[in-house]
Amino acid sequence: MSAPQINPPPSSGDKFSKPQPPKPAAASARHAPSRDFVTTINEDGSRYFLHPADVHGFFTRIRRFLGLALIAVYLLLPWIPVGGYPALFLDVGEGRFHFFGFTLAAQDTWLLFFGLTGVGFGLFFLTALFGRLWCGYACPQTVFLDHLYRRIERMIEGDAASRRQLDRAPWSSGKIARRIAKHGLYILASLAITHLFLAYFVSVPEVWHMMSAAPREHWAAFLFVFVAAGALYFNFAWFREQLCIVICPYGRMQSALSDDHTVTVGYDAKRGEPRGKVGTPDAGACIDCNRCVQVCPTGIDIRHTSLQLECIACTACIDACDDIMRKVQRPTGLIRYDSLAAFRGGQTRWIRPRTILYGVLLVIGICVATFAFSTVKPANFMVMRMTGAAYFVDRDDVRNQFMVRLLNKRNEPVAFTVRLEGLPAGVVQNGLTAPVTVAPLAEQVSPLVLVVQRKTYTGPFKATLVVEDAAKSFRLSRPIEFLGPDAQLLLNEDRAKGITR
Ligand code: SF4
Ligand code: SF4
Repeated sequence: MSAPQINPPPSSGDKFSKPQPPKPAAASARHAPSRDFVTTINEDGSRYFLHPADVHGFFTRIRRFLGLALIAVYLLLPWIPVGGYPALFLDVGEGRFHFFGFTLAAQDTWLLFFGLTGVGFGLFFLTALFGRLWCGYACPQTVFLDHLYRRIERMIEGDAASRRQLDRAPWSSGKIARRIAKHGLYILASLAITHLFLAYFVSVPEVWHMMSAAPREHWAAFLFVFVAAGALYFNFAWFREQLCIVICPYGRMQSALSDDHTVTVGYDAKRGEPRGKVGTPDAGACIDCNRCVQVCPTGIDIRHTSLQLECIACTACIDACDDIMRKVQRPTGLIRYDSLAAFRGGQTRWIRPRTILYGVLLVIGICVATFAFSTVKPANFMVMRMTGAAYFVDRDDVRNQFMVRLLNKRNEPVAFTVRLEGLPAGVVQNGLTAPVTVAPLAEQVSPLVLVVQRKTYTGPFKATLVVEDAAKSFRLSRPIEFLGPDAQLLLNEDRAKGITR
């Protein structure tokens, strides 16, 4: 790897007492309010691979706890049975979505629209108030990188200084062995994540069955695991923060979603500047130790004023600087959660047009989503005319023939009763006169024939088909229309044929 050209991290250790002075290019840029370079790209255009230093502190503990809890949830959800199915199971084979015992059928996918827009508005609202909380605490990219892959890396190659040293060292048996061990574990971790992801769609036993069979028997699943695990390995072994900087659209949207009153991780330049070593006359609180830069996973310097696209609000620089401030016996909070307005000496305004707008959209979204989900019934049915003529006129009667599709979305058998409301007198119902038991998560199609005697026929009419279960825990209804010839024409025809009514 070529030597870093921009914002170089220290080579002599991770201790704040031994920072490596930045090279001239970075030194001139770091006092500027903004910068015109990318921290992870060298001047010759090659990638500068970051090795963020370890950090400890209040926010790091919270992030670690949350990150490990999220990984545990990801690992466990496919294994926890609720109502006979995994707690979260997108059953692609059956077209069902099981969510903690709540089952949605393929016909209910329209609800996803409300679910996704609700999450979107929630993210807008949160970003307007607190910036990129999602990125720093809950994004899978951050969670897996910080709490799985970087841990593996640290376990095998040591701290940031040791890793940089290993990067620069010539190839030796020791270096090869470490690299093989690290990348071997990366590949295993990527395969484990991908197989678990597949289990969310086909269940754990099915994944196990696929793993025990030859790849050609499940070539689509095999191909998916191969490609997805490869992409994960590439991302977490090499691409890393580039995904946040170059690909993720959310990072780019933050400048549109946030403003000067958004509370996010920032540097108090009023208190920190002019920066200078301890004992420098008239210096601000920042002792220019560069520790905040060393711990940053995207390699940026939080002391540049204004919002930086690369900042994922991971809070590592807060903990790093607080640690330094305690050591030099100055108040903590030089880097902290606050708004740009407050950093400039003003007040943070919580209520402003964008927070009102996003808040209103969020409340509307929650109300609509709650209503939409409350209307979901544990069953569904459809009624269609049988193929062929819309109606049949026989010597004695007029008939309409339908097919009724009953769908049971429960994880237990349900006995459906089907009846017609609003039928004129004399109409006979053939079919579906007794309860129909439908197996769990299954559907059944049954014929329904309505017959009217010619002598009582008075023309087309409308009725309502009602479907309930025995306990009447739900009631579904659909309008149907009985079609037939004009009653007077039929009467005339009968008279012409000498048929008496
Ligand atoms: S902001 Fe804090 S951590 Fe960063 S250089 Fe200044 S004193 Fe060091
Ligand atoms: S600037 Fe601070 S909060 Fe932002 S990514 Fe770097 S370390 Fe994390």
